[in-house]
Amino acid sequence: MTHANAPAETPPRSTLVVTAHAGDFVWRAGGAIALAASRGEKVTIACLTFGERGESAKAWREGRNLEEIKAIRREEAEKAAAVLGAEVRFFDAGDYPLVASAELTDQLVAVYRETQPDVVLTHPVDDPYNGDHPAANRMALEARILAQAIGYPGAGDIIGAPPVFYFEPHQPEMSGFRPEVLLDITEVWDTKRKAMECLGAQQHLWAYYTDLAVRRGVQLKRNAGPNLGLAHTTMAEAFMRPFPQIAKELA
Ligand SMILES: [Zn+2]
Repeated sequence: MTHANAPAETPPRSTLVVTAHAGDFVWRAGGAIALAASRGEKVTIACLTFGERGESAKAWREGRNLEEIKAIRREEAEKAAAVLGAEVRFFDAGDYPLVASAELTDQLVAVYRETQPDVVLTHPVDDPYNGDHPAANRMALEARILAQAIGYPGAGDIIGAPPVFYFEPHQPEMSGFRPEVLLDITEVWDTKRKAMECLGAQQHLWAYYTDLAVRRGVQLKRNAGPNLGLAHTTMAEAFMRPFPQIAKELA
């Protein structure tokens, strides 16, 4: 029996991931997603395109057509999201180029208001190798601002100010990426690797993103100091923070 004065049940923490292409959330934030999910948190991935034109070269070389490739990438991404413990939603907005639009941004506002994220993950501002990633960044940030505004129409409650983390681009130095947060993903590394292996269309990246996790792990250990009892091989993901961290004490 529910007591009339019982406090409302606190919903689990919510993470929203906004990505341009079907594989992006796996390579760049699969560890962060798996960690949150392993704690019982809710993770929603807003995947704006399937990466059907720009990030599916293997399938094109095999002679597949556009619709087949979209279906392949959707299936792969759904499997990967299930392995990580997240829900993925596709917007099929078309890649290469992904064009930022008011309509698509409005759809993201609805996702923000529905999921009420405590944390937002998306691409960094710059990527001179792939214009779709900055387009996704712009829409993710713009939708977050609009979703905060009581005057912006749409269903659902307005959101707070969830911290935003930019995940690591494929060409970090050229994209102005500097690790500001190193997240220890050692305990969910096997899960991330399994999710990566769902992406057969981009098999060439499995080894690369394994190496990157080792390298970021080495940097994490160097910055953590010797006494934290970290695993011999610590795996990590790097993030940037576009907005200031809020604190009551420096830690
Ligand atoms: Zn991408």
